[in-house]
Amino acid sequence: MSILKVARMGHPVLRTPTQPLELSEIDTPAIQRLIDDMFETMREYRGIGLAAPQVHESLRLFVAGVDDPDSSMPPVVLINPVVEPVGAATEEDWEGCLSIPDLRGRVPRASDIRVTAFDRFGIQVSMTASGFPARVIQHETDHLDGVLFLDRMASFESLTFLQEYARYWDKEDAAVSGA
Ligand code: ZN
Repeated sequence: MSILKVARMGHPVLRTPTQPLELSEIDTPAIQRLIDDMFETMREYRGIGLAAPQVHESLRLFVAGVDDPDSSMPPVVLINPVVEPVGAATEEDWEGCLSIPDLRGRVPRASDIRVTAFDRFGIQVSMTASGFPARVIQHETDHLDGVLFLDRMASFESLTFLQEYARYWDKEDAAVSGA
């Protein structure tokens, strides 16, 4: 496995909508290796999610989650995800992004979602998610559409450098460390 180079904001790949994978592509060595490398890269940079465009691959897939059994976000691979809000509730919380290092901002998201996708075996999965995992899934799916969390902020008033975030805003329940 390898640690991949993470694209930073300004790289056009982050603003390019991705191509869906063909079902027959999923079980190929190239895609399976990409998934493994994305997990390793996400762990190396302590992210909670990583989308293919963030490692310069314009493909409609992302990985997310951590192995820790106490985590509300277990490891998942979602390929060609389609996200729909369930109900109208929204909530605002902090987000960060491995492609926008050193910045945090508060982002409104749907509180509850349903996501339909393929897993890494090409099996169709459908799940609901709420709160933090729902936020991570929306952040990563946005990457697949060329959208960054800054685009989703209601205002830039909360935009904060990491050092100031740690000093003034970091709490135990603070949300995404980088995704
Ligand atoms: Zn991100």
